[in-house]
Amino acid sequence: LRILGIETSCDETAAAVVERDAEGHSNVLSDVVLSQLDEHSAYGGVVPEIAARAHVEALAELIEEALKRANVSLDDVDAIAATSGPGLIGGLLVGLMTGKAIARAAGKPLYAINHLEGHALTARLTDGLSFPYLMLLVSGGHTQLILVRGVGQYERWGTTIDDALGEAFDKTAKLLGLPYPGGPAVERMAQAGNPDRFDFPRPLVGEARLDFSFSGLKTAVRQAAQDIAPLSDQDVADICASFQKAVSRTLKDRIGRGLQRFKTEFPATFPATGEKPALVVAGGVAANLELRGTLQALCDKNGFRFVAPPLRLCTDNAVMIAWAGLERMATGAAPDALDVQPRSRWPLDSNAETLIGFGK
Ligand code: ATP
Ligand code: MG
Ligand code: FE
Repeated sequence: LRILGIETSCDETAAAVVERDAEGHSNVLSDVVLSQLDEHSAYGGVVPEIAARAHVEALAELIEEALKRANVSLDDVDAIAATSGPGLIGGLLVGLMTGKAIARAAGKPLYAINHLEGHALTARLTDGLSFPYLMLLVSGGHTQLILVRGVGQYERWGTTIDDALGEAFDKTAKLLGLPYPGGPAVERMAQAGNPDRFDFPRPLVGEARLDFSFSGLKTAVRQAAQDIAPLSDQDVADICASFQKAVSRTLKDRIGRGLQRFKTEFPATFPATGEKPALVVAGGVAANLELRGTLQALCDKNGFRFVAPPLRLCTDNAVMIAWAGLERMATGAAPDALDVQPRSRWPLDSNAETLIGFGK
């Protein structure tokens, strides 16, 4: 089976070809990503209108490039998989409509893929994980702890009730006059800072539910910055280090509880096979070495395996969309009808709309 994947939900235009052979071995035949970072950085965030136009301009050529690098033609592809939500509606329309047009013209089935499902299943491609496992998605738009039970079977255990974690990094950077995207800038500054100088809040720490909240942290950063302005480089470094420490402690508490819950719900699954349960991390924030270190230590302590796919596959890409399509096909799932519509909000688990903070 060979699938062409298309991803346009945010600020990356991406196309990829992935195949799985008869023995079940998977291969990424091509992986093309065009980031729009330069087009948005002047605005300090993703501008939906600019993003949609950039997808229109780039997508057709990117798809050709992906097919060329994979050394296949559309005839050699068995299905098209396109992200159809959640995300910015303009970009989703571009990618899904293009996917539909190709599917129609080439007479191939179309799979409309949930972007979060792509992130959730990537670790099966990269690390061959078996179900169930826990996934922490931390990006500019999402902060979710998800139980992955199987293909199409997801339970959202926690989500942010306000800002996404990447968003908190970006806003903190902006407050401090650091460049966009904020995550890498904050991490770099933090290296030279004193993490104990400011005692920033650790939202929801100690609470039984597994949700996240980061807007109070950002407010505390603003307050601290105002109190000691004008800021020296050392002040900025100290704020960044203290911010990162607060985030780190928060994740340790929240995810620690998630691991406990996993152990309670699946007590017998893993000792039987000798395989350790796994925590997978995905999203751009997964690039942060301090947070990775925290999660790794937490997993070690709790007898979990910590899985971080290569960064290129943690951030937005089309390989994960093609892969999710393959996984769906492999379960015998029917393709989507060509009148399927994109959805800017589309929680992974069907009952999630009744929970608070949905869509994030
Ligand atoms: P989506 O949320 O739809 O998946 P996105 O484009 O917002 O898409 P990503 O591209 O996965 O998300 O990640 C971008 C985010 O990751 C930004 O908020 C950025 O600041 C953050 N980030 C990147 N590198 C780091 C880092 N080293 N430390 C912390 N955050 C980081
Ligand atoms: Mg992005
Ligand atoms: Fe994403």
